[in-house]
Amino acid sequence: MRKNIVAGNWKMNTTVPEGVALAKEVNEALKGATVNCDVIICTPFTHLVPVAQSIDSEVLGLGAENCADHEKGAYTGEVSAAMVASTGAQYVILGHSERRQYYGETAATLREKVALALANGLKPIFCIGEVLEEREAGKHFEVVGKQVEEGLFNLSAEDFGKIILAYEPVWAIGTGKTATADQAEEMHAFIRGTVEKKYGKAVAENTSILYGGSCKPSNAKELFAKPDVDGGLIGGASLKCGDFMGIVSAF
Ligand code: PEP
Repeated sequence: MRKNIVAGNWKMNTTVPEGVALAKEVNEALKGATVNCDVIICTPFTHLVPVAQSIDSEVLGLGAENCADHEKGAYTGEVSAAMVASTGAQYVILGHSERRQYYGETAATLREKVALALANGLKPIFCIGEVLEEREAGKHFEVVGKQVEEGLFNLSAEDFGKIILAYEPVWAIGTGKTATADQAEEMHAFIRGTVEKKYGKAVAENTSILYGGSCKPSNAKELFAKPDVDGGLIGGASLKCGDFMGIVSAF
């Protein structure tokens, strides 16, 4: 059966000492709690090695927020999937709307990144989601369906089985405006149906689909209670141990 997962996306926040302290705090809190889901933190590249050395990977998973679309070589400033894997990280967020919007990431770039992540043993947390104008125009299913198809449907069923999906309506990210639990469920069920049409029921039923967008302790329970919502990708609320644990304990 698919896993329930709560993953933090720290974005470009915290210095290395601050990040290590936060990771240790989350790790300790998880050890002392009854936890009914997998918990992951995705940190800036600079934090991966010291964070990996400071947490128990059995308790807390670790991921990067991006990786390069090339294997290695003359790409100044880039960080490859192999480099990420060599830090001890097990996951990588790919296709976050901020990367698509501000850094021009396309489906073609993302297919390269996904392939390299998988080749290096990393599990991609692949983000999809529509902008407000697309939702208002009634195009949200079409947009999200296309993002899943164009970004991932070149994969074999075996490789697709390693993907974690994160539905993040762009209008809900960092805005305080959460999708309602019904809106999230409707889209997650649509995504699962799209996966089923391509890879069959067993693969679709095993795919974890996380919700992201202003998820917090006060709304996590209602969102996670929906049958097709398998957890959350958490931005702002992952930067405070208490808030993050409040979301984790919604399961
Ligand atoms: C995110 O950026 O992945 C996210 C969900 O952000 P926030 O929780 O702050 O809306």
